[in-house]
Amino acid sequence: MAKVLIIGAGGVSSVATHKCAQAAHIFSEIVLASRTKSKCDAIAASVKERYGRDIETAQVDADNVPELVALIKKVQPDLVMNIALPYQDLHIMDACLEAGVNYLDTANYEPLDDAHFEYKWQWAYKEKFEKAGLCALLGSGFDPGVTNVFCAYAQKHLFDEIHVLDIIDANAGDHGLPFATNFNPEINLREVSAPGRYWERGEWVETDPLAWKMNFDFPEGIGKKNCYLMYHEELESLVQNLKGIRRARFWMTFGDAYLNHLQVFKNVGLIGIDPIKFQGQDIVPIQFLAKLLPDPASLGPRTVGKTCIGCLMKGVKDGEEKTYYIYNICDHQACYRELGSQAISYTTGVPAMVGAMMMVTGKWNKPGVWNMEQMDPDPFLEELAKYGLPWTVIEPAL
Ligand code: NDP
Repeated sequence: MAKVLIIGAGGVSSVATHKCAQAAHIFSEIVLASRTKSKCDAIAASVKERYGRDIETAQVDADNVPELVALIKKVQPDLVMNIALPYQDLHIMDACLEAGVNYLDTANYEPLDDAHFEYKWQWAYKEKFEKAGLCALLGSGFDPGVTNVFCAYAQKHLFDEIHVLDIIDANAGDHGLPFATNFNPEINLREVSAPGRYWERGEWVETDPLAWKMNFDFPEGIGKKNCYLMYHEELESLVQNLKGIRRARFWMTFGDAYLNHLQVFKNVGLIGIDPIKFQGQDIVPIQFLAKLLPDPASLGPRTVGKTCIGCLMKGVKDGEEKTYYIYNICDHQACYRELGSQAISYTTGVPAMVGAMMMVTGKWNKPGVWNMEQMDPDPFLEELAKYGLPWTVIEPAL
């Protein structure tokens, strides 16, 4: 029986909080804190209505480390789940170290003034967490998160060596709006407008943003979709932790309307991160644009269709060449019926809860800072399927 403190009250947090509430035999106490307390209260009311459970709520600015330390010391949780934004990662890690509590997040650190993410900042905390006897689990969402665990499962059970990895993420959902992002708009637009990057023969190769395209035939009726090469954070740790890896790439599907809007936003400077003067005030174009866009948490009722995120891997087992594809399919409307959310929040919030479950039950709890593929995939995947994200392994005929 464990007590968790969840920070952040957006779309992903709502799912993670509901899922922790479902697993009452593990998470006996849940405290939800965020910058805007009314959002925590709305999630708490929904949890109460669905499961009859009371959760405590609180207001906190996670960028204010002393304020957060005071809250953690007051709550005394077994684990802090950071489901705010990547900008808060280091502050929340600092607060966890000071208060002596384990840490989990779903996205790696990104400085506010530099649209660029890498693990170096969080990996630099390894020794501090080791010395404190605390565990930090990084990237416990879907991608990163489940994709790392799919790779760990493949490495453990299906291959002696994985040589080629393609992580392929399809959101084949339709929200019927001209343009919306399916998670935090600012983080999403920073990510998709960055240069592409993939790993080949021991080095990183850079491409122009979304310059490379392939067509992939997704399973279970989703069909053929255009996928664009992007850099994604799990590649950074996977190329270090997968034995024999020669090439690793990440692909995401985008429709033409999304790409056309993105191009226009870019052309007129709306995804810039440097402040500009407007009527005597400093405004950051991407933050202004994000304010105009729909709140991803509001897309649930109107989104139909499915997501399919998986890992296509080639390698060798017992001297024989093998190809496997491991994937999950998630239906937007099924997520909405269960939790009032769309599938992107759902596919991130469920693994956040399962990662937390692994930590508080001691199945994944060792001092240091860890990426998901460094842990035993089996107990995680067993719980993932039980809590709404079943997965499939096939040997595709290519
Ligand atoms: P939202 O923008 O919907 O929610 C973010 C929440 O964090 C809001 O409640 C916000 O509060 C709160 N917050 C922001 N700053 C602070 C702060 N300083 N102190 C306290 N709370 C703060 O984001 P999402 O739910 O869409 O995404 C949440 C996280 O999940 C992000 O880090 C995102 O990158 C990650 N993600 C990971 C994925 C994966 O597969 N690994 C996929 C999708 C998302 P307020 O409401 O006041 O703004």
